[in-house]
Amino acid sequence: MVYDVAIVGGGVIGCAIARELMRYRISAILIEKESEVGFGTSKANSGIIHGGHHVEPDTLKGKLEWEGNQMWDALAEELGFGFERIGELTVARSHDEIPTLERLQKRGQEKGVPGLEIWQQERLQQEEPHLSEDIIAALHAPTTGVVNPYEACFALMENATINGLDFSGDTLVQDLQTDGEIWRLQTSKGEIASRYVINAAGLFADKIAEMAGVGDFTISPRKGEEYLLDKRLKGLVKRIVFPCPTPVSKGILVIPTYDGTLMVGPTAEMVDDREDLSTSKAGGEHVFQSVQPIVPGISPRDCIAEFAGLRAVSNTEDFIIGPTSKKGFINVAGIQSPGLTAAPAIADSVLQILQESGLKLAENDEFQPGISKPIHFASLPTEEQMELAAKDPSYGRIVCRCELISEGEIRDAIRRGARTLDGIKFRTRAGMGRCQGGFCTSRCMELLSEAWETPIHEITKRGGDSWVVRAREEVQNQ
Ligand SMILES: Cc1cc2nc3c(=O)[nH]c(=O)nc-3n(C[C@H](O)[C@H](O)[C@H](O)COP(=O)(O)OP(=O)(O)OC[C@H]3O[C@@H](n4cnc5c(N)ncnc54)[C@H](O)[C@@H]3O)c2cc1C
Repeated sequence: MVYDVAIVGGGVIGCAIARELMRYRISAILIEKESEVGFGTSKANSGIIHGGHHVEPDTLKGKLEWEGNQMWDALAEELGFGFERIGELTVARSHDEIPTLERLQKRGQEKGVPGLEIWQQERLQQEEPHLSEDIIAALHAPTTGVVNPYEACFALMENATINGLDFSGDTLVQDLQTDGEIWRLQTSKGEIASRYVINAAGLFADKIAEMAGVGDFTISPRKGEEYLLDKRLKGLVKRIVFPCPTPVSKGILVIPTYDGTLMVGPTAEMVDDREDLSTSKAGGEHVFQSVQPIVPGISPRDCIAEFAGLRAVSNTEDFIIGPTSKKGFINVAGIQSPGLTAAPAIADSVLQILQESGLKLAENDEFQPGISKPIHFASLPTEEQMELAAKDPSYGRIVCRCELISEGEIRDAIRRGARTLDGIKFRTRAGMGRCQGGFCTSRCMELLSEAWETPIHEITKRGGDSWVVRAREEVQNQ
């Protein structure tokens, strides 16, 4: 079979493009080297839908940041994932920083971002009493929001697949050639043929472009370490708190995540290794030393988990989105921050590029814009919980005690495509609480093993060789 479109890379960008494509009567496949979508940079970020005023308007990043920001309400509504415009404050600790706040406000207003206001200390102390008294003013942006980025990826993908998209996971694209009309992608699972190829391979987009013979840019990884804090601090601040930005960085933030717990980070450090997701003592110290002068109630003792993500920074420092000299090959590369924010707008521009490149887009009358919303048992009223548990007793059995996640929710996550422990964790929160999976991991493994008919020692944390237990024979044979 020859597909109309093959997308390489199932991050938020590939998933957003896939979902938009399925509004039309075309055949498409998404190819992803990891077991599940969203397992690259898209699961390891701050989860902020940026307000729209941070990036200069004369860049592609700046244009798509604001366009993308405005599209998240409709997307979240249709696909039933969590998104909330909690707002942000960029704070000034000295009079020297006030001109930066004014510059950001002006930049936003020029782009059409509504509601940007500079709040003085008295208002700030009323709105956010746990901010340091050293803060003299802040720019308030009500348009800033938070999402669980992996939840958005899963929802986009689930919707795209119910509308006809093919998904090939655990599939590494190793080479590509074209005869001028049809692209042949050599993958770890064999050849895939397609008329158009969308290169949305994140950190590896320069390598994919090189394989296609259009490698005229480079990608460098810029690492960001993030630190998640205990629920004890829930509500300490209600809005995302940014320090005053410098010319190279937005700085270290305090982020109330969509789930309400706080996260602090990220760092920004150029690294050589595109797979290096390690966190460091120095990174942690830098993060906590940066946020404590802004929100003094935060302590490193409250950290329950840490992770790192890698931004795919292109040599142009801007997004690279467009057709190439090879017919049918389209780059969507260098999608560093605010790539999550811009994702829906990027998907729209890619569809336009496809059309301009000759792909016929006839509307699919059977397109279903929504998916069924997953049940969160613990947040239901008692009567509904009792009814549900009577109908399906698996909802009455709690597996994750920290986050109160039932077996029914885990079975549903597996039905929707979870193949790994992280796939369950990111869909349900099982394993995300204070004990970090100490109680629920073994039961989640059993449920995966049973559903996918896979021996327990082949169940992994996040695919590849991230096994959790070893087979008895393997241990005995040593
Ligand atoms: C620490 C940090 C914080 C951030 N915070 C924010 C934020 O708050 N707001 C915001 O808007 N943006 C933020 N970003 C940026 C945002 O996360 C990225 O812009 C976005 O996730 C990029 O998505 P992507 O789909 O391009 O890349 P990815 O998610 O990396 O997806 C690319 C996919 O391609 C796959 N792939 C690669 N090579 C191959 C191959 N050969 N064959 C098959 N598959 C392949 C990978 O496995 C991967 O899944 C942050 C980034 C970091 C690192």
